[in-house]
Amino acid sequence: MASVPHIAVIGGGSTGAGIARDLSMRGLDVTLVEQGNLTHGTTGRMHGLLHSGGRYAVSDQKSAEECIEENRVLRDIAAHCVEMTGGLFVKRPEDTEEYFEEKLRGCETCGIPAEVVSGEEARAMEPHLAKDVDRAISVPDGAVDPFRLVVANAASASEHGARIETHSTVTDLLVEDGEVVGLEVEHASGAGKRVHGTEGGTEEIRADYVVNATGAWAGRIGDMAGLDVEVRPSKGVMTIMNTRQVDTVINRCRPKGDADIIVPHETTCILGTTDEEVEDPEDYPEEGWEVDMMLDTLSELVPMLAEARTIRSFWGVRPLYEPPDVGSEDPTDITRDYFLLDHEERDSLPGMTSIVGGKFTTYRMMGEEISDHVCGKFGIDADCRTAEVPLPGSEDFSVLRDYMDEFGLRSPIGRRSVERLGSRAEEVLQTNGPNPTVCACEGVTRAEIHDAIDGSGSDLNAVRIRTRASMGNCQGGFCVHRMASELHGRYDESVTRQAWDELLQERWKGQIHALWGEQLSQAMLNYALHATTQNRDHDPADGGSVDFTAFDGGPGRGDRSEAGVATDGGTADGD
Ligand SMILES: Cc1cc2nc3c(=O)[nH]c(=O)nc-3n(C[C@H](O)[C@H](O)[C@H](O)COP(=O)(O)OP(=O)(O)OC[C@H]3O[C@@H](n4cnc5c(N)ncnc54)[C@H](O)[C@@H]3O)c2cc1C
Repeated sequence: MASVPHIAVIGGGSTGAGIARDLSMRGLDVTLVEQGNLTHGTTGRMHGLLHSGGRYAVSDQKSAEECIEENRVLRDIAAHCVEMTGGLFVKRPEDTEEYFEEKLRGCETCGIPAEVVSGEEARAMEPHLAKDVDRAISVPDGAVDPFRLVVANAASASEHGARIETHSTVTDLLVEDGEVVGLEVEHASGAGKRVHGTEGGTEEIRADYVVNATGAWAGRIGDMAGLDVEVRPSKGVMTIMNTRQVDTVINRCRPKGDADIIVPHETTCILGTTDEEVEDPEDYPEEGWEVDMMLDTLSELVPMLAEARTIRSFWGVRPLYEPPDVGSEDPTDITRDYFLLDHEERDSLPGMTSIVGGKFTTYRMMGEEISDHVCGKFGIDADCRTAEVPLPGSEDFSVLRDYMDEFGLRSPIGRRSVERLGSRAEEVLQTNGPNPTVCACEGVTRAEIHDAIDGSGSDLNAVRIRTRASMGNCQGGFCVHRMASELHGRYDESVTRQAWDELLQERWKGQIHALWGEQLSQAMLNYALHATTQNRDHDPADGGSVDFTAFDGGPGRGDRSEAGVATDGGTADGD
C-alpha cells in the first residue's frame, strides 16, 4: 500500500460523488468510476425534493430525523443548488383528522418545525390549491437540483485530487487471495473528459479499498465477487409540467398512496409518484396510465393541473434495502434508511463495503458514515468537513443580488444564470466576447455553455445537466443545434454531429409520454425543425440517424392505457 490509501468508488450518483468528496477532503487518494454521465442512475431521475422529513414523520422516524438534519446542512453548504420553497401537507375532506394529528405529532417528535394553517391561509400562499382543502401543515421542505449538486461534489473532489471517470463501466472486481483489490473498467471514450469517437479500452484500477455506491445496481457489483447484495429496486413515475403551478411543495396528508406530491422545480413543477418493486433497474415498463394517474389524482389538490401542459415524463428506481429478516411485502413499507454492508464482516471478503438504501437528501451523511468506516480500516484519524465547507458555487451566495445587475445580461437571464452558478458567476460570465442566449427557455448563455464544455468535453448531455440548457418548454427544439454549434472549433464535425444526435435523442425519448395538447404541437415543430429542415433523421453524410419513432408511441392522454413502453434504461433524464 502507498503511504496514502487509494480508494475506488463505484457509482457517480449523489452517494458516490458525496463519498468521493469526503474521502478526498480527508486526504485519501480517490478514483470514482461511473458508467454514464454523473447522475446517470436514480439521482438523475428523482423528484428534486429536499426533504424536511415530514413525509416520513409517522412511518419512518429515523429517516425523518436524518432528513431534517441534512436539510439544514444542505441549505448552507449547497445554497446554489437549493430553493427553500417551504412545503404544505394538505388535507382534503376525505383525509382523516387522526392522520393529520399523527403527522403533526410525528413532526414534533422528529424535531421538524411544523405549523398548522387553515385552508384559507394555505390558499393565500398557493392560490391554485383546491377550494376544499380544509387544513394544512407547513414544514421546511425545499427543492434541490440534483445535477448541480452532484457536479459540485465531483468538482470539489477533483479539486482535492480525486480522479473522476465518467462513461467508464466496471466490468469486474479484481479479487486476489480472497480479497477485493481493484476494478476492471471499460472506458467508452478514452479516459478523462469525454470526446465522442475516441477509442476507449479497458483498464485495471488497483485499489486499497473499494466502495460500491451503485444504488439499485449494487447487487450486480456484488455478483461480480459472488456476493448477495439484496437491493429491492422500486420504480416511481414523475411528470413534468411546463410552468410552476405552485411555488410551495404540496404533499397530500394521508398515510400512503400514489400521486401525492408536487414539487416546484426550477421553471417547472414535477408531479409524483408511485412505488412499485421491479426486478431490473434498467428494464421495466413505462406506462401511459401511470402518467394519467399523476394528472388525475393530483388535480384533486391543484385543479388547474387537469388542463395544464406536461412537457415530459420519466421514471426512476429507488435503491431500497432492508435487512433480510424484515421481509416487507409492500415496497412503501421498506425503510428509506441506509445501510453499510462490510463484506469482510458479512461475507468474509475483505477489501469492499457496499452502501445501499438512503435518500438523496441524506447523501452527505451517508458519505460521512462510509468515509469514517473506510478511514477506520486504515487507522486514519481525519475529521469530516463536508458539513461545514461549502460546495464550489456556494461559498458566498449572499453576493447573488449584486451579480444580477452586472454581466450585461438582462433579468431574468442574469438572475437565472447567477442562481445556477452561485459564487462562480463572475468567473464564468465575465467575458470580453459576445454572450448571446443559447437556450431561451432556461436562460443559458454562451459563456455558461462553454464553461460546461470546459468541464465535460464534447458530451452535450453533460453540458445539459450542468446548465439546464434544453430542459425547458421546447425540450431542445430551439437550442440543441445551437449547443452543438458551440462545440464547433473545439471538436471536429463528426464529434459535433454525434454529440448533437445524442442530445436530441435524449430529449426526444421523454416526450413520448407527453404527446397530446400543446406539447404535441411543440414536438411536431421540433420534429419538423430537426428531422426535416436539419435532416437529423436520415443524414446521408454519415448514415447516422436519430430515432424519431416517438410519434408512434401512443395516441396520447385519455387513450393510453395499453400503451406500455419498455424503458431503454438510457441516459439520466431528470427533466
Ligand atoms: C421516483 C423517485 C423519486 C425520488 N425522489 C426523491 C426526492 O425527492 N428526494 C430525495 O431525497 N430522494 C428521492 N429519491 C431517492 C433518491 O433519488 C435516491 O436515494 C438517490 O438518488 C440514490 O443515489 P445513489 O447515488 O445511491 O444511486 P444512483 O444515483 O443510482 O447512482 C448509482 C450509480 O452507479 C452507476 N453504476 C451502476 N453500475 C455501474 C458499473 N458497473 N460501473 C460504473 N458505474 C455503475 C449508475 O450508472 C449510477 O449512476 C427518489 C427516488 C425515486 C426512484
